[in-house]
Order: sequence, then C-alpha cells, then structure tokens
Amino acid sequence: MLIDSSGRKLTYLRISVTDRCNLRCTYCMPEEGIKLLDHTGILSYSQIVDFTKTAVSFGITKVRLTGGEPLVRKEISTLIREIANIEGITDLSLTTNGQLLAPMAQELKDAGLHRVNISLDTIDKERYMNITRGGNIERVFEGISQAKKVGLSPIKINCVVEQNSSEADAAAVAGFAKREGLSVRFIRMMDLKKGEFGIVDGGDGGNCAICNRLRLTATGILKPCLFNDLGFDIKELGAETAIRLAVQNKPAKGGCNSSGNFYNIGG
Ligand code: SF4
Repeated sequence: MLIDSSGRKLTYLRISVTDRCNLRCTYCMPEEGIKLLDHTGILSYSQIVDFTKTAVSFGITKVRLTGGEPLVRKEISTLIREIANIEGITDLSLTTNGQLLAPMAQELKDAGLHRVNISLDTIDKERYMNITRGGNIERVFEGISQAKKVGLSPIKINCVVEQNSSEADAAAVAGFAKREGLSVRFIRMMDLKKGEFGIVDGGDGGNCAICNRLRLTATGILKPCLFNDLGFDIKELGAETAIRLAVQNKPAKGGCNSSGNFYNIGG
C-alpha cells in the first residue's frame, strides 16, 4: 500500500502516453504548436506496462491514460490490452478530445478499456472550432454516441471553465449532458507556472487533502504532484525507487510547476 507523509493512500496512476495532439486548444497549447518530443525520448509500451505492473504491486488500482491526445499514439489498443491484463487494476480509463473516438470505440472496448472522459467546453460548433483551433464538434458527438453503443461506461464530460459552471458554455454543456445521460466535471482553467488551480466541480481533482494521484509523463518522469517541479526518472532510478521517492516526497498540497506543460503531463 502506498501511503504518503500526509497519510493519503495513493491508488491512482495517470499515464501520459504522448505529448502530441490533433487539436490546439487555446488554454493548453500555443498557436504555433509545440516542439515535439523525439520518439526515442518517449516511453515504449513495454516500459509503460512494466512500470504499471510494479505500481500495481505497490497498491495502484486505478489507471488513466492521457496525453496530449492518447488516441493519436499508434496501436494504443495494444497498450490498453496489456494494462487491462494486469491483475489488481479495477478501473482503466482514458481521457480524449473525442476527435478519433467514434472509429476506435469498439477496439478500445474490446481491448479492455472501462470508461472514457471526453473534453467538451461548448456545444456551439463555431466556438468549439475557435477554442480547439480547428476541431470538428460533430466528431465528438459521434464519439459519444459510439462510446455509448459499445458500452464504455460511465462516460464523463470534462468541461473547462474560466471561473465556474454558471458560464453560458458550461450551462449549455450541462444541459447537453443531462439530455445524453452523461455526467460533467467542470475544471477551472489552471496555470501551472502561477500555481492557479481549483477543486474540480463534479470530481475530486485539485483537492489536495484527499489527493490519491501519481503521474507518469510521456518521457518517464514520475511526478508526485501536478503543481510541483519534483519528478523522478523511472529509466534512471528504476520503477521501485522512483515510486518510493515520489511517495516520500509528495507535497501536502500543490504549489506551482515552473517546468511543466499540460500537454506532456496529461493534466
Ligand atoms: S495539486 Fe498536487 S497534491 Fe493537490 S490535488 Fe493536484 S496533484 Fe494532488
């Protein structure tokens, strides 16, 4: 069992499988895009699976795949299948922007994925295109209906808000989700460098007092906290030592993260 120095039980591992994304959301990525990580610097699927096996042997039971956009990484279903086969995992989920979900939903389900969170900050086609710098909202709607059809459940909507859920877009997303029988989590815009974040409305993210998370970046850095610069390189230290150090050094609460970016930590 992983218990940190604040007495929190750590059971949740978020794994960023890529820094790449097929969208350019204004609050996440610069317009010109980012300098992409070299493929050799990204963890291979077998490195991710080996690490996850060790983490599960320490008490991790919940795994979420993130990015960038995890569905842009080739053969992501292969990784899902291997993680789903690790005994001890009770919850295997993925966060996606939904652009590739419709054509992939069945294979993700067949590979062993349990559920998905889908990013949707507005239901207005024009505004969606502006926020995502070119995304097609119809694909998200198709992805949601396909995910329902194949039995990925529950389906949750991640809706980023400036301040709170009473904003016009957020209220419209809430109405849409209600009609579709989906739950929504409202995520206040965060600033890693300024250390600005809030508790997720409708979820438990951002609630430091009960934080149960560790994060593995696409390059193999194990981070005890999103809003902190600390990170332990699993390739250098090995999985066990990296996990021990991350747990021992997990801060009681988040501060700021001067080096990180959401697209390679996975939020
Ligand atoms: S800021 Fe750090 S400690 Fe707080 S909820 Fe986020 S990851 Fe957990």
